[in-house]
Amino acid sequence: MIPMKILMVAAEYAGLVKTGGLADAVAGLGGALADAGHDVRVLVPAYARVTSPPARDRGRVGEGRLLEHDSPAGGPRLYRLDVPGLDAGSVYTGDDRDAVRFAHLAVAAHALGGVIGWRPDVLHCHDWHAALAPSLRSPVPTMLTVHNLGYQGVFPRSAVEGVGDFDAAFEADGRVNFLKAGLRAADLVTTVSPTYAREIRTPEYGMGLDGLLGDRGDDLVGILNGVDYRTWEPASDPLIHARYDAADPSGKRRAKASLRAERLPGSDAESPLVGMVSRLVFQKGVDLLIDALPGLLGRTRAGFVVLGSGDAALERTLEGMAAAHPDRIAFASGYDEPLAHRIYAGADLFLVPSRYEPCGLTQMYALRYGTIPVVRRTGGLADTVRHFDPGSGQGNGSVFEDADPGGLTWALERAIEWYGDPAAWPRLVRNAMTADFSWDRRVDAYEAAYRRVVSR
Ligand code: ADP
Repeated sequence: MIPMKILMVAAEYAGLVKTGGLADAVAGLGGALADAGHDVRVLVPAYARVTSPPARDRGRVGEGRLLEHDSPAGGPRLYRLDVPGLDAGSVYTGDDRDAVRFAHLAVAAHALGGVIGWRPDVLHCHDWHAALAPSLRSPVPTMLTVHNLGYQGVFPRSAVEGVGDFDAAFEADGRVNFLKAGLRAADLVTTVSPTYAREIRTPEYGMGLDGLLGDRGDDLVGILNGVDYRTWEPASDPLIHARYDAADPSGKRRAKASLRAERLPGSDAESPLVGMVSRLVFQKGVDLLIDALPGLLGRTRAGFVVLGSGDAALERTLEGMAAAHPDRIAFASGYDEPLAHRIYAGADLFLVPSRYEPCGLTQMYALRYGTIPVVRRTGGLADTVRHFDPGSGQGNGSVFEDADPGGLTWALERAIEWYGDPAAWPRLVRNAMTADFSWDRRVDAYEAAYRRVVSR
């Protein structure tokens, strides 16, 4: 493969700024493409509340400044666009300042090449935050990757007018929908799993854009996300209590004992520990767990350790349940990367009961840590987790169909049965730990996609 020059544009990049899986996905893909010999550069916004390593000022881009980071040898080169006056107490402001910030990012995506004297072969935009870029006139071909169709970036057009020539992106109703504009204008659209690529062409999952997505035909491609096993690897993870691997998973028992001592000291050491690490939003099916918990406390002996932040009502409910059952339920609110690692390592089972899930990374992390995922059959969850069959020994998790508390309860009870079966459980854990979802395995598919884009 001839090395290509690829400029990725995104709101998040793991190591620099992360609120969810987008950051891991962009960094993981960027790293794998750089390892494969491509010249990958990444442009993200600067956020005042995110402390960043020192950077060089490369000059003016529109109303902002372009900052360049020293990147690890061989890794993608990182640029931040610093536009003053757009910050709030969180990465995303949730108001029109987000529109302004990401409109500037779109303009800068095209201007960057002139500033640093480097013209990309492909402009690869991620999610709504970067999705205005393809609608700007430019000779550089564009690809848009949808990480979550549920976030489209809809604003009054007045919020972005004047930042750039976005006429092609404006809707008749006086608004601008960033993602929709990108889906129309990009030379190729990808999303982060084959199943999600099919689902979003249907009204049930299309979030109002299924018609447009269907019209794009073969120009909508699903490529499964990968895992960066340099970070997510129990054999070398510095953030967990004891290291282990598939050949010798004994360290996992110590990781569990530590997690129990830390979060659920009153729980029964022999009973299974169920973990969940999630944004607390309707998409993730947290409410399904909340509704299922009273029954599960009676029907099983499992303990539950949940880490998440988001919807205030869901947080309050989980806090209340943990206070009422301190020996069975632990809830940590907030964003805590080290605790997330300790849960992946220390739990026996891991819940991902999503209503929809474009790819989902947490179930793949759980698999690597020998923590059996209990998931709903949707999107990338359907593409990565197969329901275990104790008879044949095939499968790596527990999978349910219906997004209701009964479905979740059924799947969790199956997994708890396997946990109690000394013939089945080690086999299931081995299946989980030896599955390989590394990014290297996705490079070919992305290279093929870039070739299509360039040949337009
Ligand atoms: P999404 O991007 O929709 O939130 P993914 O499964 O793709 O879901 O990615 C979630 C990522 O965010 C994972 O790396 C997960 O460990 C991390 N994460 C989610 N919530 C938290 C939290 N409260 N603390 C630490 N990490 C979290």
